[in-house]
Amino acid sequence: MDTNARPATRRHLTGDRNQCPTCGAFFNSTYAFDAHRTGPFGGAQGEPSRRRCLTVDEMRAKGMTLNQAGFWMTARRGLGPKPIASCGQDCEIQADTGA
Ligand SMILES: [Zn+2]
Repeated sequence: MDTNARPATRRHLTGDRNQCPTCGAFFNSTYAFDAHRTGPFGGAQGEPSRRRCLTVDEMRAKGMTLNQAGFWMTARRGLGPKPIASCGQDCEIQADTGA
């Protein structure tokens, strides 16, 4: 549709990558996204949500890092169980067969 009016911050997000609609930061996974949100959710009794994004300094303090592609990652990367290959034949995940 609009070929020229594309925001510079728009990226092609693959897999579990996502962008925070609040602060605009990019995250390598939903887990990393969740890790940069803090504060209580709104309560059932009409309490306002005080959920907010961590600042860059706060994210770094939690051990989060920005990878080369510009996506925030948590320090837990690689420690969990291996992801199940649930994608189809068009999977964009590339095995680390280099080197
Ligand atoms: Zn955010």
